[in-house]
Amino acid sequence: MTTPSASIWPDGHRSAVALTFDLDIESPFVGADPAVVARPGFLSQAHYAPKVAVPLILDLLERLGVDATFFIVGKSAEDFPDAVRRIVDSGHEVASHGYTHVSPSGLTREEERDQLERTLEILGGFGAEVVGYRAPFFEASANTVELLHEHGIRYASGMMDDIKPYRYPGTDVIELPSQWLMDDWSIFGHGSDDGLARIATCAHVRQLWIEEFRALHRLGGLMVLTMHPQVTGRPARLEMLADLVAEMREHDGVWITDCRTLADHAAATL
Ligand code: ZN
Repeated sequence: MTTPSASIWPDGHRSAVALTFDLDIESPFVGADPAVVARPGFLSQAHYAPKVAVPLILDLLERLGVDATFFIVGKSAEDFPDAVRRIVDSGHEVASHGYTHVSPSGLTREEERDQLERTLEILGGFGAEVVGYRAPFFEASANTVELLHEHGIRYASGMMDDIKPYRYPGTDVIELPSQWLMDDWSIFGHGSDDGLARIATCAHVRQLWIEEFRALHRLGGLMVLTMHPQVTGRPARLEMLADLVAEMREHDGVWITDCRTLADHAAATL
């Protein structure tokens, strides 16, 4: 049994949770195989995100009274502006998830800079002040942190090397770590092309996530749940998410807020 050390969180909180949603819609599929644009049936699984899932998620967040963070692909924002507008109008944080859904580690520095700048411009066009970034596939490159620092981005979320926020040395950039364990795609995600029938039950995912939360809470850590509207935005899974949040709140001193708030707190104290 691990003894909790002094809390790094403010106002008597013992641990923190961020609900995050990656709005990448069809971009991961198109990035992997541009020919899928000719397959409307295949892409309909992605189109569920802006059409149905985003409104359901926004309703749920309002009921729960939780501020969340949406990491949005720039190209998806261009193609599905109504969904982005709804998110911005709801007051939730909007952050960058690249311009196209390609791994930054496969880009040159200039290509990655271009991806970042285009996305900041597009999301800024919706009136969003963007201060956060998540690399597609959690695959930051060797240049990512420097580019974020140069562009005044205050945090990244996607490294898997810690359970608490940390500052990248020599920069103003805070990392809010996540992990595949807390990513819905790796456990709920299923595409007809990948040959993997891995549709988990809600009970299974809830158990994985609440077990990890309880242990992180004891250690005073941070749980960044990385979800996708087309995955967790299915009706039964949203009910599971609501139950999960309710159970988290039964723990003394859990702080559930958006990434921007967590990063600003970390920046002020680290
Ligand atoms: Zn993504």
